[in-house]
Amino acid sequence: MSHEFSPATRVVAAGRPPRVPGAPVGPAVTFTSTYVAGEAPAYGRFGNPTWTELEDALGELEGGRALSFASGMAAIAAALSLTPERATVVAPQHCYNGTGALLSQYAEQRGWQVRRAPIEDTSAYVQAMAGADVVWLESPTNPMLEIADLRALCDAARAHGAISVCDNTFATPLDQRPLESGADLVMHSVTKYLAGHSDLVLGAVVVGDDALHERLLAHRTLHGGIPGPMEAWLALRGLRTLHVRWDRACDNARVLAQRLATHPAVSRVRYPDRGAMIAIELGGDQAAAEALERAVEVWLPSTSLGGVESMLERRRRHPTEPPTVPADLVRLSVGIEDVEDLWRDLDAALRRSRACAPAT
Ligand SMILES: *Cc1c(COP(=O)(O)O)cnc(C)c1O
Repeated sequence: MSHEFSPATRVVAAGRPPRVPGAPVGPAVTFTSTYVAGEAPAYGRFGNPTWTELEDALGELEGGRALSFASGMAAIAAALSLTPERATVVAPQHCYNGTGALLSQYAEQRGWQVRRAPIEDTSAYVQAMAGADVVWLESPTNPMLEIADLRALCDAARAHGAISVCDNTFATPLDQRPLESGADLVMHSVTKYLAGHSDLVLGAVVVGDDALHERLLAHRTLHGGIPGPMEAWLALRGLRTLHVRWDRACDNARVLAQRLATHPAVSRVRYPDRGAMIAIELGGDQAAAEALERAVEVWLPSTSLGGVESMLERRRRHPTEPPTVPADLVRLSVGIEDVEDLWRDLDAALRRSRACAPAT
C-alpha cells in the first residue's frame, strides 16, 4: 500500500487478501498442521497464511518486515537470539519486568554481561554502550513511564556496533516508528494495544533488514514459538480499530492525569502525555495501593494493559519489579470507557483507599 496513506487508514486497509472478484474482504483462519507437499510453507510450524496477513499489516505500520510469535516474550527471546555466545547487553533500569528477568537469567546461566542504566539519561545510557552487542530500548518505560531519545540512542548503538531493539508496546506505531529512528528491530507484545481486547497473547518483531528477517524466521521455525492461527486472526481483527481505540484511550488518559495531579490521595503522577498509561504514587507504603485495587468497581485490578477496559495494578506485587519502583506505585492502563465514569470510580476508590494509608 502507498506510503502516502495515514496510519489511521493503514490499520484498516493493510494485510487484506488480494482484490479478486468474489474473494472475501478479510482473511480466513487457516487451521492446519501441514500442507500438501510440493510448495512452501510445507508444514504448520514453518508458516501459516493467517500469520502472514497479520505480519503484512504490522510490517506496513512499522515500516519493515514483521514476524509474529507466540507471545511478546517469545519475540523478546527471538530478538536476543541474535547475539554472540557471551553477549554484553545494555538495558533500561526500568523496563518490562519479563525482559529484565530473562536478561538476569542469561547473565546467570550464559555469562552475559547485563548493564542496566537510566534510559531517560541519554549520556549515561550511551556511556554504558562501550563493547555492547545489544542495546535494548523501551520508551515509555514500564512502569515508570520514562521517555528515551530514540534517535540519539539508536545512532550511538550503531556507532558502537551494537544491535538496537526497541520494545514499542507502550507507544504503538501510531505514536512512534523506531525503525525510522534508526532501530534495527522493533518488538511488540501484540497482546496489549495492537490486539486491544485482552483476549489473546501474541508477540511480534519487525525489522528493516532481510538478513535479520531470515535469522529470526529460522529461530522461530527451530524454537517453535509460533502463534496459533486463531490468535493471529483475532489480533488482526483487533488491530483494525487500533486508531480509534488509541485516540479515545489517550484522550481519557489526558483528562484523568490532569485531575489526578491535584487529587489529595495522590502524591505523584507520572504521565509523559505519550499514550494512555499513567503511574500514580499514593504516598506511604503499599497498604493504600492494595486498598485501591480492592476498591475499584469499573477499573479492573489486573496485570495487563492496552485493552479496551481500564486496568490498574500495584506493580511491586511482582517480586521481579526492581526496588527502585516505589512500593506504592499503581500503574493505570486507561481504556475507552466514558471518562467521567472512570474518574468517578477512581476518585471514590482513592478516597476510600486513603483511609487505609498510614498517618504521616
Ligand atoms: C506485556 C509486555 C511484554 C511481554 O509480552 P507478552 O505478550 O505478555 O509475552 C513485553 N514488553 C512490554 C512493554 C509489555 O507490556
